[in-house]
Amino acid sequence: MIIFRKPEALKDFLDKKRAKHQVGFVPTMGALHAGHLSLLNEAKKENAIVVCSIFVNPTQFNDPEDFKKYPVTIEKDIAMLHEVVCDVLFIPSINDIYPGGTTVLKHYDLGFLETILEGKYRPGHFQGVCQVMHRLLDIVLPNNLYLGQKDYQQCMVIRKLIELIGLDKKIKVNVCPTLREEDGLAMSSRNTRLSPDDRIKATTISAALLFIKKNIKPGRTAPIKNEAKEMLLKNGFLPDYIEIANADTLELIEDWNGKQKIVALTAAFINNVRLIDNRVINP
Ligand code: AMP
Repeated sequence: MIIFRKPEALKDFLDKKRAKHQVGFVPTMGALHAGHLSLLNEAKKENAIVVCSIFVNPTQFNDPEDFKKYPVTIEKDIAMLHEVVCDVLFIPSINDIYPGGTTVLKHYDLGFLETILEGKYRPGHFQGVCQVMHRLLDIVLPNNLYLGQKDYQQCMVIRKLIELIGLDKKIKVNVCPTLREEDGLAMSSRNTRLSPDDRIKATTISAALLFIKKNIKPGRTAPIKNEAKEMLLKNGFLPDYIEIANADTLELIEDWNGKQKIVALTAAFINNVRLIDNRVINP
């Protein structure tokens, strides 16, 4: 594995390879776990060169405390990447990604997607995601990009970004399944911040979504959403939202016709840790 810290050096390296080799890209914020590694394994199946980036992007944290507390385990991450199929690791600094600083940044017109769910509860978050992804995609210019379904809305935002910046003919977006712990908890770097007690309770998130998946019936969605919300509240969670949406557009669904493909999504705090998860329901 070759480690690059400077964008120009990585770009030069990849520009030389591009003519003959497909490039697959897995962007991450580090504190790697098996979910991240599954994306790299998927990338290796389809690309001669697999690039992973580790960059904790300050502009996507609407809460500065969350940014400060974000786990950083770079030595361990590098050791993990040596064990899998990663050809190139990119670890830029904040200056390398934002040479003009982080105060005046480009704005992306994400429309409706920015007004609901994560967009509503984390103002500015998706602008930050677009700012970093635009820069990373310009540097890596991959043939294939690998994203996790765990960040369902983020996948849609990044697809939209790729259209907005005119790279949709060049970059294929591959959405990979969510890897879970044995008790159902979606793997996440933030799980390391859970106390042992909260880690046990955290399984309620996936249980609440599975409850919706197994029990939803055509008609009003409010009653089942309320039941799932009660499950979260009883187990010490403070939900930002628990919603049911059209799986293709994320339009919220108040009345389900029983035929539409939908997705149940939630974000909830347990103490100060905010977790998200989703389940697709394909009747
Ligand atoms: P992050 O480091 O949290 O920004 O995540 C980097 C990439 O890994 C994103 O595309 C995530 O959606 C993906 N990812 C995070 N957790 C999981 C998981 N449990 N299973 C699969 N992919 C994941």
